[in-house]
Amino acid sequence: MSLQVFSLEGQRAIVTGGGAGIGLGISKALIEAGAKVVITGRREGVLQEAVTELGENASYRVNDITDRASIPVLVEAIETEEGPIDILVNNAGIHHKAWAQDTTDDDFERIIQTNLISVFALTRECAKYMLKRKKGSVIMIGSMAGLFGIDRVIAYSASKTALTGLVNSLTTEYAKDNVRVNAIAPGWITSNMFLNAVNKDQERKLQITNRIAMDHFGTTEDIGNAAVFLSSEGAKYITGVILPVDGGATVNF
Ligand code: NDP
Repeated sequence: MSLQVFSLEGQRAIVTGGGAGIGLGISKALIEAGAKVVITGRREGVLQEAVTELGENASYRVNDITDRASIPVLVEAIETEEGPIDILVNNAGIHHKAWAQDTTDDDFERIIQTNLISVFALTRECAKYMLKRKKGSVIMIGSMAGLFGIDRVIAYSASKTALTGLVNSLTTEYAKDNVRVNAIAPGWITSNMFLNAVNKDQERKLQITNRIAMDHFGTTEDIGNAAVFLSSEGAKYITGVILPVDGGATVNF
Protein backbone atom coordinates (compact mmCIF):
# COMPACT_ATOMS: atom_id res chain seq x y z
CA MET A 1 0.00 0.00 0.00
CA SER A 2 1.29 3.44 -0.89
CA LEU A 3 0.90 6.26 1.63
CA GLN A 4 -0.37 8.25 -1.34
CA VAL A 5 -3.91 7.05 -0.46
CA PHE A 6 -3.79 9.40 2.54
CA SER A 7 -2.75 12.41 0.47
CA LEU A 8 -5.29 15.22 0.06
CA GLU A 9 -3.43 16.85 -2.82
CA GLY A 10 -5.89 18.65 -5.10
CA GLN A 11 -8.73 18.59 -2.51
CA ARG A 12 -10.49 21.61 -1.03
CA ALA A 13 -12.02 21.58 2.46
CA ILE A 14 -14.21 23.85 4.54
CA VAL A 15 -13.55 23.71 8.27
CA THR A 16 -16.15 25.59 10.32
CA GLY A 17 -14.68 27.20 13.41
CA GLY A 18 -11.28 26.55 11.82
CA GLY A 19 -9.62 29.58 13.41
CA ALA A 20 -9.18 28.12 16.88
CA GLY A 21 -8.86 24.98 18.98
CA ILE A 22 -9.70 21.67 17.36
CA GLY A 23 -10.74 23.38 14.11
CA LEU A 24 -7.30 24.94 13.77
CA GLY A 25 -5.67 21.55 14.48
CA ILE A 26 -7.84 19.94 11.79
CA SER A 27 -7.04 22.71 9.30
CA LYS A 28 -3.29 22.31 9.91
CA ALA A 29 -3.46 18.55 9.41
CA LEU A 30 -5.53 18.81 6.21
CA ILE A 31 -3.09 21.36 4.77
CA GLU A 32 -0.09 19.22 5.73
CA ALA A 33 -1.77 16.36 3.83
CA GLY A 34 -1.99 18.57 0.73
CA ALA A 35 -5.47 20.14 0.87
CA LYS A 36 -6.50 23.75 0.45
CA VAL A 37 -8.65 24.82 3.40
CA VAL A 38 -11.26 27.53 3.85
CA ILE A 39 -11.83 28.28 7.53
CA THR A 40 -14.94 29.99 8.84
CA GLY A 41 -15.96 31.64 12.09
CA ARG A 42 -17.47 34.82 13.49
CA ARG A 43 -14.30 36.64 14.57
CA GLU A 44 -12.34 38.09 11.66
CA GLY A 45 -9.21 38.84 13.73
CA VAL A 46 -8.98 35.21 14.86
CA LEU A 47 -9.44 33.97 11.31
CA GLN A 48 -6.80 36.36 9.93
CA GLU A 49 -4.29 35.24 12.53
CA ALA A 50 -5.04 31.59 11.81
CA VAL A 51 -4.58 32.05 8.05
CA THR A 52 -1.22 33.69 8.69
CA GLU A 53 -0.23 30.64 10.73
CA LEU A 54 -1.67 28.14 8.22
CA GLY A 55 -0.01 29.69 5.16
CA GLU A 56 -0.85 30.08 1.50
CA ASN A 57 -3.17 27.09 1.24
CA ALA A 58 -5.60 28.61 3.72
CA SER A 59 -8.25 31.28 3.27
CA TYR A 60 -11.08 32.50 5.44
CA ARG A 61 -14.71 33.59 5.27
CA VAL A 62 -16.39 35.37 8.14
CA ASN A 63 -19.62 33.50 8.80
CA ASP A 64 -21.99 32.81 11.67
CA ILE A 65 -23.35 29.34 10.97
CA THR A 66 -26.55 30.13 12.85
CA ASP A 67 -27.38 32.77 10.23
CA ARG A 68 -29.36 30.48 7.95
CA ALA A 69 -29.65 32.86 5.01
CA SER A 70 -25.86 33.18 4.88
CA ILE A 71 -25.22 29.47 4.29
CA PRO A 72 -26.17 29.11 0.60
CA VAL A 73 -24.36 32.41 -0.07
CA LEU A 74 -21.20 31.15 1.68
CA VAL A 75 -21.13 27.83 -0.16
CA GLU A 76 -21.85 29.36 -3.56
CA ALA A 77 -19.16 31.99 -3.03
CA ILE A 78 -16.54 29.34 -2.20
CA GLU A 79 -17.59 27.08 -5.09
CA THR A 80 -17.46 29.88 -7.66
CA GLU A 81 -14.58 32.01 -6.36
CA GLU A 82 -12.25 29.31 -5.00
CA GLY A 83 -13.34 26.00 -6.53
CA PRO A 84 -15.16 22.76 -5.73
CA ILE A 85 -15.59 21.73 -2.11
CA ASP A 86 -14.53 18.09 -1.62
CA ILE A 87 -14.44 17.94 2.18
CA LEU A 88 -16.69 19.53 4.78
CA VAL A 89 -15.66 19.42 8.43
CA ASN A 90 -18.53 20.54 10.68
CA ASN A 91 -16.38 21.51 13.64
CA ALA A 92 -17.89 24.76 14.99
CA GLY A 93 -19.70 24.13 18.22
CA ILE A 94 -20.57 25.66 21.54
CA HIS A 95 -20.72 24.21 25.02
CA HIS A 96 -23.09 24.89 27.87
CA LYS A 97 -22.36 23.64 31.35
CA ALA A 98 -25.35 23.49 33.69
CA TRP A 99 -27.37 20.95 35.62
CA ALA A 100 -30.47 19.81 33.73
CA GLN A 101 -32.70 21.61 36.24
CA ASP A 102 -30.87 24.89 35.62
CA THR A 103 -30.92 24.63 31.81
CA THR A 104 -33.50 26.94 30.26
CA ASP A 105 -35.37 26.42 27.00
CA ASP A 106 -33.37 29.31 25.54
CA ASP A 107 -30.05 27.67 26.51
CA PHE A 108 -31.22 24.44 24.92
CA GLU A 109 -32.36 26.13 21.74
CA ARG A 110 -29.08 28.06 21.34
CA ILE A 111 -27.02 24.87 21.63
CA ILE A 112 -29.23 22.88 19.25
CA GLN A 113 -29.24 25.74 16.77
CA THR A 114 -25.41 25.92 16.59
CA ASN A 115 -24.43 22.28 17.13
CA LEU A 116 -27.16 20.56 15.15
CA ILE A 117 -29.48 22.61 12.91
CA SER A 118 -26.64 24.67 11.42
CA VAL A 119 -24.61 21.52 10.84
CA PHE A 120 -27.47 20.02 8.86
CA ALA A 121 -28.07 23.24 6.91
CA LEU A 122 -24.44 23.55 5.86
CA THR A 123 -24.14 19.85 5.02
CA ARG A 124 -27.29 19.95 2.87
CA GLU A 125 -25.93 22.97 0.99
CA CYS A 126 -22.46 21.49 0.35
CA ALA A 127 -24.02 18.14 -0.58
CA LYS A 128 -25.97 19.84 -3.39
CA TYR A 129 -22.65 20.24 -5.18
CA MET A 130 -20.98 17.05 -3.91
CA LEU A 131 -23.86 14.79 -4.99
CA LYS A 132 -23.81 16.20 -8.52
CA ARG A 133 -20.07 15.55 -8.77
CA LYS A 134 -20.46 12.15 -7.06
CA LYS A 135 -17.59 12.96 -4.74
CA GLY A 136 -17.40 14.23 -1.19
CA SER A 137 -16.54 13.58 2.41
CA VAL A 138 -18.48 15.11 5.29
CA ILE A 139 -17.10 14.88 8.82
CA MET A 140 -19.11 15.87 11.88
CA ILE A 141 -17.24 16.71 15.06
CA GLY A 142 -19.33 15.04 17.73
CA SER A 143 -18.24 14.32 21.27
CA MET A 144 -17.99 11.46 23.67
CA ALA A 145 -20.71 13.42 25.51
CA GLY A 146 -22.88 12.07 22.69
CA LEU A 147 -21.82 8.49 23.41
CA PHE A 148 -22.26 8.14 27.17
CA GLY A 149 -23.75 10.00 30.10
CA ILE A 150 -21.90 12.99 31.55
CA ASP A 151 -23.56 15.29 34.06
CA ARG A 152 -24.13 19.04 33.53
CA VAL A 153 -24.05 18.88 29.71
CA ILE A 154 -27.67 18.05 28.95
CA ALA A 155 -28.22 20.32 25.91
CA TYR A 156 -24.69 19.81 24.58
CA SER A 157 -25.00 16.05 24.96
CA ALA A 158 -28.40 16.01 23.21
CA SER A 159 -26.97 18.04 20.31
CA LYS A 160 -23.98 15.73 19.91
CA THR A 161 -26.02 12.52 20.23
CA ALA A 162 -28.31 13.81 17.49
CA LEU A 163 -25.32 14.02 15.12
CA THR A 164 -25.37 10.20 15.09
CA GLY A 165 -28.85 10.43 13.57
CA LEU A 166 -27.55 12.82 10.91
CA VAL A 167 -24.63 10.51 10.12
CA ASN A 168 -26.85 7.42 9.89
CA SER A 169 -29.55 8.97 7.78
CA LEU A 170 -27.31 11.00 5.48
CA THR A 171 -25.10 7.95 4.92
CA THR A 172 -28.02 5.96 3.56
CA GLU A 173 -29.10 8.83 1.29
CA TYR A 174 -25.71 9.98 0.01
CA ALA A 175 -23.67 6.77 -0.27
CA LYS A 176 -24.84 5.77 -3.74
CA ASP A 177 -23.51 9.13 -5.00
CA ASN A 178 -20.13 8.54 -3.37
CA VAL A 179 -20.57 11.16 -0.68
CA ARG A 180 -19.38 9.71 2.62
CA VAL A 181 -20.56 10.94 6.01
CA ASN A 182 -18.67 10.14 9.21
CA ALA A 183 -18.16 11.65 12.64
CA ILE A 184 -15.23 11.98 14.99
CA ALA A 185 -16.11 11.89 18.67
CA PRO A 186 -13.22 13.62 20.45
CA GLY A 187 -12.47 12.81 24.05
CA TRP A 188 -10.92 15.41 26.33
CA ILE A 189 -8.79 17.54 24.01
CA THR A 190 -6.60 20.42 25.17
CA SER A 191 -8.38 23.22 23.29
CA ASN A 192 -9.30 26.52 24.95
CA MET A 193 -12.91 25.34 25.35
CA PHE A 194 -11.72 22.42 27.42
CA LEU A 195 -8.89 24.12 29.32
CA ASN A 196 -11.12 27.05 30.32
CA ALA A 197 -13.53 24.57 31.83
CA VAL A 198 -11.11 22.28 33.70
CA ASN A 199 -8.39 24.67 34.81
CA LYS A 200 -10.92 26.25 37.16
CA ASP A 201 -11.60 22.89 38.78
CA GLN A 202 -8.51 20.82 39.62
CA GLU A 203 -10.56 18.07 41.27
CA ARG A 204 -12.58 17.63 38.08
CA LYS A 205 -9.35 17.60 36.05
CA LEU A 206 -8.03 14.68 38.09
CA GLN A 207 -11.36 12.84 37.87
CA ILE A 208 -11.29 13.21 34.08
CA THR A 209 -7.68 12.05 33.76
CA ASN A 210 -8.54 8.91 35.74
CA ARG A 211 -11.31 8.21 33.27
CA ILE A 212 -8.96 8.13 30.27
CA ALA A 213 -7.46 4.68 29.64
CA MET A 214 -4.31 6.25 28.17
CA ASP A 215 -4.06 8.50 31.21
CA HIS A 216 -3.58 11.81 29.41
CA PHE A 217 -5.56 14.37 27.40
CA GLY A 218 -5.62 14.38 23.61
CA THR A 219 -4.32 17.12 21.33
CA THR A 220 -5.92 19.00 18.45
CA GLU A 221 -3.38 17.22 16.22
CA ASP A 222 -4.89 13.85 17.20
CA ILE A 223 -8.26 15.00 15.90
CA GLY A 224 -6.65 16.50 12.79
CA ASN A 225 -4.98 13.18 11.94
CA ALA A 226 -8.31 11.36 12.19
CA ALA A 227 -9.91 13.97 9.93
CA VAL A 228 -7.17 13.47 7.33
CA PHE A 229 -7.73 9.72 7.36
CA LEU A 230 -11.52 9.97 7.04
CA SER A 231 -11.23 12.54 4.22
CA SER A 232 -8.73 10.51 2.23
CA GLU A 233 -8.95 7.79 -0.41
CA GLY A 234 -7.63 5.48 2.29
CA ALA A 235 -11.11 5.66 3.83
CA LYS A 236 -13.04 5.40 0.54
CA TYR A 237 -15.15 2.47 1.79
CA ILE A 238 -15.80 4.00 5.22
CA THR A 239 -19.10 5.81 5.71
CA GLY A 240 -21.62 5.97 8.54
CA VAL A 241 -18.98 5.63 11.25
CA ILE A 242 -18.62 7.45 14.57
CA LEU A 243 -14.91 7.30 15.38
CA PRO A 244 -14.00 7.99 19.02
CA VAL A 245 -10.59 9.67 19.36
CA ASP A 246 -10.41 9.69 23.12
CA GLY A 247 -7.47 7.66 24.45
CA GLY A 248 -9.89 4.86 25.35
CA ALA A 249 -12.14 7.00 27.57
CA THR A 250 -15.37 5.71 26.02
CA VAL A 251 -14.70 2.11 26.98
CA ASN A 252 -12.88 2.74 30.27
CA PHE A 253 -15.66 2.32 32.82
P1 NDP B 1 -13.35 26.26 20.80
O1 NDP B 1 -14.32 27.03 21.65
O2 NDP B 1 -11.90 26.38 21.05
O3 NDP B 1 -13.66 26.58 19.27
C1 NDP B 1 -14.96 26.62 18.78
C2 NDP B 1 -14.92 27.17 17.37
O4 NDP B 1 -16.26 27.22 16.86
C3 NDP B 1 -14.36 28.58 17.33
O5 NDP B 1 -13.47 28.67 16.23
C4 NDP B 1 -15.59 29.46 17.09
O6 NDP B 1 -15.23 30.58 16.32
C5 NDP B 1 -16.49 28.49 16.30
N1 NDP B 1 -17.91 28.85 16.42
C6 NDP B 1 -18.69 28.79 17.53
N2 NDP B 1 -19.93 29.23 17.24
C7 NDP B 1 -19.93 29.56 15.92
C8 NDP B 1 -20.90 30.09 15.04
N3 NDP B 1 -22.16 30.38 15.44
N4 NDP B 1 -20.57 30.30 13.75
C9 NDP B 1 -19.32 30.01 13.32
N5 NDP B 1 -18.35 29.53 14.11
C10 NDP B 1 -18.65 29.30 15.40
O7 NDP B 1 -13.81 24.74 20.92
P2 NDP B 1 -13.09 23.36 20.57
O8 NDP B 1 -12.02 23.57 19.58
O9 NDP B 1 -12.78 22.68 21.83
O10 NDP B 1 -14.32 22.59 19.93
C11 NDP B 1 -14.44 22.33 18.54
C12 NDP B 1 -15.47 21.21 18.36
O11 NDP B 1 -15.03 20.04 19.04
C13 NDP B 1 -16.84 21.56 18.94
O12 NDP B 1 -17.85 21.07 18.08
C14 NDP B 1 -16.84 20.81 20.28
O13 NDP B 1 -18.14 20.49 20.68
C15 NDP B 1 -16.05 19.57 19.91
N6 NDP B 1 -15.45 18.88 21.06
C16 NDP B 1 -14.46 19.44 21.83
C17 NDP B 1 -13.90 18.71 22.87
C18 NDP B 1 -12.76 19.24 23.70
O14 NDP B 1 -12.29 18.55 24.61
N7 NDP B 1 -12.24 20.41 23.43
C19 NDP B 1 -14.37 17.38 23.23
C20 NDP B 1 -15.40 16.88 22.37
C21 NDP B 1 -15.91 17.61 21.32
P3 NDP B 1 -15.88 32.05 16.57
O15 NDP B 1 -16.11 32.17 18.04
O16 NDP B 1 -14.88 33.00 16.01
O17 NDP B 1 -17.15 32.05 15.78
